[in-house]
Amino acid sequence: MAVLITGIGELTTNDPELGKLRDAALVLDGETVAWAGPAGRAPDADERVDVEGRAVLPGWVDSHTHLVFAGDRTAEFEARMAGQAYAAGGIAVTVDATRAASDEQLVENLRRHVEEAAAQGTTCLETKTGYGLTVADEARSARIAGEVADEVTFLGAHLVPPGADAESYVDLVCGEMLDAVAPHVRWADVFCETGAFDEAQSARVLKAAAERGLGLRVHGNQLGEGPGVRLAVELDAASVDHCTYLSDADVEALASSNTVATVLPACDLSTRQALAPARRLLDAGATVALASNANPGSSYTTSMAFCVTTAVLQMRMTVDEAVWSATAGGARALRREDVGYLRPGARADVHVLDAPSTTHLAYRPGVPLTHAVWRKGARLR
Ligand SMILES: [Zn+2]
Repeated sequence: MAVLITGIGELTTNDPELGKLRDAALVLDGETVAWAGPAGRAPDADERVDVEGRAVLPGWVDSHTHLVFAGDRTAEFEARMAGQAYAAGGIAVTVDATRAASDEQLVENLRRHVEEAAAQGTTCLETKTGYGLTVADEARSARIAGEVADEVTFLGAHLVPPGADAESYVDLVCGEMLDAVAPHVRWADVFCETGAFDEAQSARVLKAAAERGLGLRVHGNQLGEGPGVRLAVELDAASVDHCTYLSDADVEALASSNTVATVLPACDLSTRQALAPARRLLDAGATVALASNANPGSSYTTSMAFCVTTAVLQMRMTVDEAVWSATAGGARALRREDVGYLRPGARADVHVLDAPSTTHLAYRPGVPLTHAVWRKGARLR
């Protein structure tokens, strides 16, 4: 059944030819966009929805979350807000809670967060393993993630489990764990950071994953300059995420690569780090994605709108850049072209704002502006 969405005050298509349209319409046919263009030329459809001058954009593509978890880290957050520094080790708290949870509890928690994100306009969501850190627990997390999320990443190399030997753990990740998890995931990732995995260990994990045909992603340059960006670019990772501390060489490497720089402003704020230098990356010609990094430790929000607002108000991105980075940019970071766009053939993932333009995302910070959402052509709200 085809649905005509009409009365669109401003339509963000992210398509270079269609551009941004005023007084536009959109036709959804089943799970895909059938037509986008000026309202006066819209074809007929079975059903008609008038959005009365509101802005319409592609659903958010959140390319970085960690939502297969149990438990809570409020106490750690409170300590951090009282002045304690963030360190990678807090992950172990979530690992204990996740291992202790039943499959049903993990599925329920994941679904609840994915629904929370969808209610705010997120229609494509990546999530990671990484709170299991045993063969069985990582395989379980990957299987559960695959039941709910659009994209699943293996992050067995999130942290060396407390008490384990780092090199032996990397052997396990590259061997038995990868074998068990690979059927459930498209991507592999490594936390390349002081306190997590060093350059040589990270390279081993990524190369082992690439040999099994998995795409690569890297957590890098979160807590200081380091080898993460360089490694990601060398291995043609789809994305290197965080990018909070970058050398000039890192920026140049990203600008001349196919690796997306994914910035995670909610995480930078929640860990009291500097905000990632998105403006510098964009000015150099790098591709920038915005993602939530939703996880219970360092960034407990599913709000892509918050990330967009922060990117504009505090990171000197324009509204158009920030909206692109949170939609098409996220899609680029997942090496997809079917999401993040509203043009014929794209997945029918539509976000209607209760505002006349996307500018209101930054102009009215903190105000919930999601009016309606379609995902794969089905209206969610
Ligand atoms: Zn992360």
